[in-house]
Amino acid sequence: MSVVWDRQRRFAPIGPDGQERLKTAHVVIVGLGALGSVLAERMARAGVGGLRLLDRDVVEPENLGTQALYTLQDAEGLLPKAVAAARHLREIHPEIAVEAVVVDLNAENAEELLRGVEIVLDGTDNFETRLLLNDVCVKHGIPWVYASVVEGYGQTMAIVPRKTACLRCLYPHVPKPGALPTCETVGLLATAPAVVAALAATQALRLLVGNEPPSELVHWDVWEMRGRAVPVTRRPDCATCAQGRFAFLEGEGQRAAVLCGRDAVQLRPPLEPRGGGGMRMDLAALAERLRASGDVRRGDHLLRFRPSREDAEIVLFPDGRAILKGVRTEAEARSLYARYIGL
Ligand SMILES: [Zn+2]
Repeated sequence: MSVVWDRQRRFAPIGPDGQERLKTAHVVIVGLGALGSVLAERMARAGVGGLRLLDRDVVEPENLGTQALYTLQDAEGLLPKAVAAARHLREIHPEIAVEAVVVDLNAENAEELLRGVEIVLDGTDNFETRLLLNDVCVKHGIPWVYASVVEGYGQTMAIVPRKTACLRCLYPHVPKPGALPTCETVGLLATAPAVVAALAATQALRLLVGNEPPSELVHWDVWEMRGRAVPVTRRPDCATCAQGRFAFLEGEGQRAAVLCGRDAVQLRPPLEPRGGGGMRMDLAALAERLRASGDVRRGDHLLRFRPSREDAEIVLFPDGRAILKGVRTEAEARSLYARYIGL
């Protein structure tokens, strides 16, 4: 038995040729939370043949209210979102070529991770990563679809480098940290990400079948049931798409990230030690060391540690990245990291 796309084939703007085209398409989805999980599912169900899924986080029970694909079993099994999503997508569409990468996209690895794909879909939850995506996509001429959602509304824009406006044309002045509302401060209506992700996924399908969306920002207030499209023109002085300066790819904005939706801070390890070869932590040895200080659990892809003297939790990945939960500031996170893991 295999998936049948009869109805989409009969939808004239896609048609049989468009459906065939989707089969050979290769798309990357960056971030697999509220938006990204829906984007991934829609791409797979629409018949996109190749998907690369990038996400740095683990499935948590509290994700299930706003995100697609995941189950309580994924959370209990400490599965990274990329791994869980790939598993569920293969159950939906066994012929799909799906690649799960558990990683934090940053200036050092972004070009490598986005190489060889036709379209990049934004499932991230922060502006810094979106500006990095914009840099990579404009530099390499990869079309991408920006999407964001918070509270009960969201927006999306298809960006075709040097043809349409880019994200820096839309936001020439980068918002300061703390300047934008987050899902933590204003919450998130459970249906909003599904609506915004469906619009963004449609932008992707149009790009893939050669029907480029216009240069406009599509804004939807899901709660009020109102949408509008605002034309966005390219700025002749845009730092990114006109002047070719890629500040975020060159390392601006590298720092700890306060994660959206909970009291959590992510710390990235310092840049790779000289000599290369990457940084791999010995999680087994570390687990042994930490056992006396609290509750330690090891999954295949991570280590979770709850110190008995703290109301906090540390999730560590083999590349040295850590997510510290129960902390609100970078300073608290660094201190907890230094206390138990060591710098
Ligand atoms: Zn631009």
